[in-house]
Amino acid sequence: MTITSTNTRRLTKPAAPADTGNWRDDAECRAHDDPDLWFPVGHSVGWIAQIREAKTICGQCPVRRECLEWALAAGQLNGIWGGLTEGERQELLRDRADVRARSYERCIDAQEFIERRVAEKATHRMIADELGVGRSAVSKALRFFQSERAAAGIEVVKAA
Ligand code: SF4
Repeated sequence: MTITSTNTRRLTKPAAPADTGNWRDDAECRAHDDPDLWFPVGHSVGWIAQIREAKTICGQCPVRRECLEWALAAGQLNGIWGGLTEGERQELLRDRADVRARSYERCIDAQEFIERRVAEKATHRMIADELGVGRSAVSKALRFFQSERAAAGIEVVKAA
């Protein structure tokens, strides 16, 4: 069965800023003779089978995670990257945003604990692990606490 696509796989195109690009050397799809396999078009007959085939190859790819993170960071809209379709990547981004929001709220609720641990010279990583949240949520919450204090004219407590 031949499935046509208007897209071409561009594993050699310029990388996103934070991407070293080295992972492309080990990409499983690079050796495949039909790069358009990763760009199913519409909902034509064979569409599901095409996605399944591409995903199967991605599932055996040693750089699947790097590929997925690159696609998410680069805002890659079309095609299958890291074993996920456009819709699945959007869903993952929404899930991650939800987790970040919940982590941040948890830190805001734990202001007293966080500021006490900072005064005890605990690192953001240690505090994050103790709260079960991401380190960036702790850092963001501390910036918020500090901005509140600054706005109130209270001396800012320096984080470790
Ligand atoms: S995960 Fe899939 S799309 Fe990404 S490099 Fe590997 S085979 Fe290619």
